[in-house]
Amino acid sequence: MESTNFSYPSSLMEAIRVFSDPQICLNVVAGAKWGSKGPSCPRCQSKRHSFLKTRLMWKCLDCQKQFSVKVGTIFEDSPVGLDKWLCAMWLVANCKNGISSYEIARDLKVTQATAWFMVHRIRYAMHNGTINKMTGTVEADETFIGGAARFMHADAKAEKLQGRRGGTQGKAIVFGLLERETGKVRTHHVRARRKGDLQAIVRDNVTAGAALYTDALKSYDGLDSEYAHKVVDHAETYVDGVVHTNRLENFWALLKRSIKGTYVSVEPFHLFRYLDEQSFRYNERHSTDAERFALVLGAIAGKRLTYKQVRG
Ligand SMILES: [Zn+2]
Repeated sequence: MESTNFSYPSSLMEAIRVFSDPQICLNVVAGAKWGSKGPSCPRCQSKRHSFLKTRLMWKCLDCQKQFSVKVGTIFEDSPVGLDKWLCAMWLVANCKNGISSYEIARDLKVTQATAWFMVHRIRYAMHNGTINKMTGTVEADETFIGGAARFMHADAKAEKLQGRRGGTQGKAIVFGLLERETGKVRTHHVRARRKGDLQAIVRDNVTAGAALYTDALKSYDGLDSEYAHKVVDHAETYVDGVVHTNRLENFWALLKRSIKGTYVSVEPFHLFRYLDEQSFRYNERHSTDAERFALVLGAIAGKRLTYKQVRG
């Protein structure tokens, strides 16, 4: 497959026209997924492959398996075509007052449940600055920030005032994931450390089959069928060979220090934006000022698909 010089559509009409071409959709997503390095097999990482024109898929010449551009991205497991996905992304990125899943469903002729799923995944991509899920070895951990009511959700605050919360009351809970290979983090402000919530975030962000290291929190029970899940029990030890969450702990320390040192207060409603900002700077710590600026500029222009390409 050749990469084409693709110029982004400037209107919804144009987006619909441009993205009606499956080859263009494939080029755009492949560019966002693999950048200038080009496709590699999701199973064995081989870069030797042949392109199956009729199926718009690749065949790995080493492990002989076929792979689609969707694997390891927010589009994974979705039967919806890339034409509709890219139009949905265009709509979400460019509707200044936001767009509901009802509108997406009507515009793209998908069910409302499908549209809700798509919007959810697209927001994840915007929040993380990439359509790709984490791969390889991933650390997952939770931390408590503050102790001041100012970090809490309004309803969590109400619960606390009514005395219905346990020992972690008054603290904001942040759930984080760190991809070892790239050293990049993703953070989420969560209401509680519930199994359903934490595992949904893991599934939305980490490719199935990845190695996942967590502490002994019960909420992680049951991830073993999808991930190579290993637990380090912090009651016993903090490091068990390669199985540890130390790099994420280092990030938590930096985060807490900067909250204490730089910011007098972070309003609860803005905590997630603050986390995004801190994660972005941490993730791009090896980039130059100009590169960081270009990345932010790309994001503001609703061109997150070029995230990787900006780095050249
Ligand atoms: Zn392969």
